[in-house]
Amino acid sequence: MSTIKAVYPGSFDPVTFGHIDVIKRAAKMFDEVTVCVLYNKAKTSSLFSVNERVKMLKDVTKDIPNVKVDSYYGLLIDYAKMTGAHVSIRGLRAVTDFEYELQIAQTNKLLSAGALDTIFLTTSLEYAYLSSSAVKEIACFGGDISQCVPPEIEELVKKKYAARAVAHKNK
Ligand code: ADP
Repeated sequence: MSTIKAVYPGSFDPVTFGHIDVIKRAAKMFDEVTVCVLYNKAKTSSLFSVNERVKMLKDVTKDIPNVKVDSYYGLLIDYAKMTGAHVSIRGLRAVTDFEYELQIAQTNKLLSAGALDTIFLTTSLEYAYLSSSAVKEIACFGGDISQCVPPEIEELVKKKYAARAVAHKNK
């Protein structure tokens, strides 16, 4: 029997409990899930480098055997073709996500001539309002993000903002 490979693309800047929930659920559905950090041209002001994000994702998924982590500079459809993935996983939180996600899914299907389909996983209710942007907004002003990200990620986010504050002071 052939292996069913899925790819979960995104920015993951940083990975949150919402992403981890989607990863765990996808890992139960597919033989292999690759979480792929894509370079996103629209998001120019990232907190973490792509390599740092890959490292964080590897750390939080280390106990899920069929999950791999990778990064790619290019189109998702090209990455999927190269790795033999036929399914893209995306998460849906609210209606506001829907229009954007539908557009991406349909574009990918068209560009890949039907080879790459998208499967949406609806968010678990407790993570419905959770996003990487919210985590950054809260952490930037010293708020508590312990309910949003695992402790090791919380530590790294805090360190980033502490370093930024020092750099800003020394300007
Ligand atoms: P993007 O790919 O738009 O840069 P992210 O990297 O933040 O966004 O997220 C990757 C995917 O994970 C997207 O499909 C997004 O909708 C989904 N996602 C993000 N946060 C959650 C959450 N709390 N629950 C479910 N899905 C989520």
